[in-house]
Amino acid sequence: MLMLEAKNIVKVYGELAGEGATTALGGVSFQLNKGDFIAIMGPSGSGKTTLLNILSGLDKPTSGEVVIDRNIISSLNGEQLALFRRKQLGFVFQDFNLLDSLTVKENIVVPMVLEKKSATEMEERVHELASLFDIEEILNKYPYQISGGQQQRTAVSRALVNHPSLIFADEPTGNLDSKSSTVIMECFEKIVQELSATVLLVTHDVFAASYCRKVIFIKDGLIHSSIDRKGSRKDF
Ligand code: ADP
Ligand code: ADP
Repeated sequence: MLMLEAKNIVKVYGELAGEGATTALGGVSFQLNKGDFIAIMGPSGSGKTTLLNILSGLDKPTSGEVVIDRNIISSLNGEQLALFRRKQLGFVFQDFNLLDSLTVKENIVVPMVLEKKSATEMEERVHELASLFDIEEILNKYPYQISGGQQQRTAVSRALVNHPSLIFADEPTGNLDSKSSTVIMECFEKIVQELSATVLLVTHDVFAASYCRKVIFIKDGLIHSSIDRKGSRKDF
């Protein structure tokens, strides 16, 4: 089942200013199916951040269309988009973006509070995710009291709390050591395998990308090549 379709996405910065327009994306098209686990890689300045921002509705393309689960993202108004992002999408960032004044548990339920879910529902969901990602022992701690890897597992739990169908992750292992990176990539594998979600990550990290089923390489704002991995990962 088709989950996301990017149709000929073009992004030009500085066009209105007139001077020195930059074509960040020159016409990018690809499709993701439900359950895909994909990495977008490419050198610095190749357009990865721009593409992620457009796919997730943070930024509008100069031309082209983004369709997620039959919704044309690029033509939703602000309010529709905010609602769509809250209900259908999950976000994971390089620097975790946790709120320091809230405990792990409180951070995880923020999106549920916004959706006015009941206390019982929140309690159940937190424990389900905490058990899946092995953070039950730290639910009452604050972000500054836990490791980077635990912070990222908290952020992943928060991203998943409202059962989104699509998760976007921007350099999710960028601030993690090798051991925590492994744990986080295993979390993403679980998300795909056990929760049937779709995961798209942007990364410089070859090790992180090795967990993905497909890698798309972009260069100078265009898709340069892609690799599809058939079969399962082999660990040594
Ligand atoms: P990456 O994430 O792969 O490093 P970016 O999407 O950040 O690439 O940038 C792609 C190109 O677009 C670069 O040349 C960058 O300088 C330019 N760019 C990105 N954002 C802006 C912006 N807000 N205004 C002008 N140029 C931008
Ligand atoms: P990344 O580390 O993901 O490649 P960058 O450091 O290139 O991101 O960009 C950080 C922020 O600055 C992004 O929001 C991007 O859109 C913006 N940006 C990048 N290049 C430019 C530019 N030439 N002019 C204005 N904003 C830019």
